[in-house]
Amino acid sequence: MSAAPASPRVVSQLKPGDRTVVIGGGPAGLTAAYLLSKKGYAVTVLEADDIVGGISRTAQYKGYRFDIGGHRFFTKIKPVEDLWYEILGEDFISVPRLSRIHYDGKFFDYPLKAMNALRGLGLWNAITIVLSYLKSHWWPNPVEENFEQWVTNRFGAKLYNIFFKTYTEKVWGIPCTEIRAEWAAQRIQGLSLAKAILSAAAINKRSTKIKTLINEFQYPRLGPGQMWETCVDRIRGMGNQVLLKHYVTAVETVNGKVVAVRAKTAEGEVRFPCEHAINTSSIRSLVRALDPQVPEPVKVAGRGPSSTGTSWWWP
Ligand SMILES: Cc1cc2nc3c(=O)[nH]c(=O)nc-3n(C[C@H](O)[C@H](O)[C@H](O)COP(=O)(O)OP(=O)(O)OC[C@H]3O[C@@H](n4cnc5c(N)ncnc54)[C@H](O)[C@@H]3O)c2cc1C
Repeated sequence: MSAAPASPRVVSQLKPGDRTVVIGGGPAGLTAAYLLSKKGYAVTVLEADDIVGGISRTAQYKGYRFDIGGHRFFTKIKPVEDLWYEILGEDFISVPRLSRIHYDGKFFDYPLKAMNALRGLGLWNAITIVLSYLKSHWWPNPVEENFEQWVTNRFGAKLYNIFFKTYTEKVWGIPCTEIRAEWAAQRIQGLSLAKAILSAAAINKRSTKIKTLINEFQYPRLGPGQMWETCVDRIRGMGNQVLLKHYVTAVETVNGKVVAVRAKTAEGEVRFPCEHAINTSSIRSLVRALDPQVPEPVKVAGRGPSSTGTSWWWP
């Protein structure tokens, strides 16, 4: 049997004494830093903001805590769940789910429940939603590459425009046409208007086990940010650094290997020599930061969607 061909990728092995810089103090960056710290490696996390947690943070104002997004901690992956418990222990509590969209002066269940939505929107809207759904059901868009196409094919254009488009664009800050269909499939797997109606009417109990509709999940007692604030304490407790207000502007490379990361701070630019870097900021800001600069086609790809709008992906 012939040996497998060697991988052309340069894999950089961690050696004792190596320093790693993590760009971004959100869930991904802090988890990476925490796991490396546990193994005894030297890590420095550079976070641009004055608070950790990224979009899973809990902001504090006049002693009150605000979750910028309610975060369900729900996973089927046991090691991930174990890690959350390891960090938060008894502060990780079970809570019943209640998510609602405030639209046109009324509250609507989220994920959408057909009967609740149709009742709240009134008879005329309900009729047009069903007609628009039937149109999409019988004549679906043959191309299903982005969030808009995926949701429209399952819910109809009318319901997509009323709820999914506005909600998703506000929460994620990017047009639905720039979000890949796989993301929608992963988040609202198994849900469609027909299934939701059957579910609401309890007609089809067996076929309506819908992944998004779990009604209890784990939550940090003081909001999702507590997970990441505690994680920072643990990382610092193991002798490593999490530095706030450090905006990474350059990732220096020599012969394709990272040698340092530079960050802008209130006191000026600071350089962090390192053997490894983990990026959790957006791909577009990483590509911009690479020093020396990358070839033009890579820059263009890094800047955003191609003219077909299919190559961009949320970090
Ligand atoms: C409203 C809402 C609800 C959500 N609900 C859930 C949920 O219920 N369950 C769930 O699992 N997920 C949920 N998510 C998704 C979850 O928040 C993200 O998947 C997660 O935060 C991604 O973590 P991250 O570390 O990759 O990125 P981010 O959270 O974006 O963190 C990246 C960090 O990098 C920093 N950064 C960026 N550029 C630089 C730079 N140049 N220099 C230094 N630092 C930089 C940013 O300030 C940020 O702190 C939700 C998201 C939102 C918006």
